[in-house]
Amino acid sequence: GSTIGIIGGGQLGRMMAISAGQMGYHTHIYAPEQDSIAAISADYFTCAPYDDEQALVHFASQCDVITIEFENIPVAPLRALEKNKNIYPPLSLLQIAQHRLSEKEYAIAMGGITAPYAALNNMADCTPAAQQTGFPAIVKTVRMGYDGKGQFRVANMDELHAAMASLNGEPAILEGLVEFSAEFSVIMARNVHGEIIFYNSPHNIHKNGILSTSSLPAPSIIKDQQPVARKLMQKIAEQSNYVGILTGEFFASSEGPIFNEMAPRVHNSGHWTIEGAVSSQFENHIRAICGLPLGSTKICGDDIIMTNIIGDDIDEFKAILDDPLAKLHLYGKAEARPGRKMGHITKISYEK
Ligand code: ATP
Ligand code: MG
Ligand code: MG
Repeated sequence: GSTIGIIGGGQLGRMMAISAGQMGYHTHIYAPEQDSIAAISADYFTCAPYDDEQALVHFASQCDVITIEFENIPVAPLRALEKNKNIYPPLSLLQIAQHRLSEKEYAIAMGGITAPYAALNNMADCTPAAQQTGFPAIVKTVRMGYDGKGQFRVANMDELHAAMASLNGEPAILEGLVEFSAEFSVIMARNVHGEIIFYNSPHNIHKNGILSTSSLPAPSIIKDQQPVARKLMQKIAEQSNYVGILTGEFFASSEGPIFNEMAPRVHNSGHWTIEGAVSSQFENHIRAICGLPLGSTKICGDDIIMTNIIGDDIDEFKAILDDPLAKLHLYGKAEARPGRKMGHITKISYEK
């Protein structure tokens, strides 16, 4: 069978590899960490830095198609691979999504709305930026942030200056705090033939900047705002000639859906699709990049809740299994550091 190359070594790669294996594909993980948990579930593993061009070229020569499970991979070394192999997502969109300023500018250009924001490159930017956003606001590094890392909530100018000082010159963005009713995500797939499907948008609850739960059915404000959010994501996908799963994170607000950020990959808020939809996000990502028709996103069950197991929560996972409806996923990470995603549980309830 064909071999799918996956760049990145975490749980998303692992779940992709499991799905690909089920459909008869081989998988080849490329990751810098020796103890990659994705590699455990894959057929082949290259352990090398993301910017090792020689290792990347060799990896690519062994793959039929290449995808990513982590969006903060340097784009420049991937450009060399693009000439001979299909890489999904498109590198142009990957590059935009890696930078919070270009990501927001792009979403606005596509017709979306965002929180008020301004660039923060030095202390002198603080005053004009705060005029733009007001307080409270959030300082975020423009690059490399995930799970709320590199973010500081600031209530006044003193706190903003202190946050800036702690960044040691790293470029950042100041965002006005959005008063939202709920958070949701648009999870969609587009295949090489341009076919598009959407999953029902889950209601996402974050704790300390980390996704805690994703649930369905979503409250009515999310159902009401889903069409506008979908339209934006569809436009982004079509404009960028996207292939694979694309996720958009939104705040449901009185002004309509406010675009927060996008992930050009499968997403934590879509893990419920493994048991809760006919075809999971992982299956549809593989189908999309391999030129297959997309599978149904029809929901299986009535109430669905996916809960992340974070850090020390893992000590309690056996108690969760007292509920026979709970489906347990553990990622096999050796060490339970605080804030680290160790696994998740999906519980689906059926009315009859
Ligand atoms: P990830 O990529 O893991 O989703 P991240 O580090 O990129 O996380 P964000 O998505 O920017 O972080 O923010 C994490 C969470 O913090 C959001 O889901 C939301 O709950 C809250 N948040 C972020 N920005 C804002 C904002 N401007 N207004 C209100 N809440 C916000
Ligand atoms: Mg993010
Ligand atoms: Mg986010």
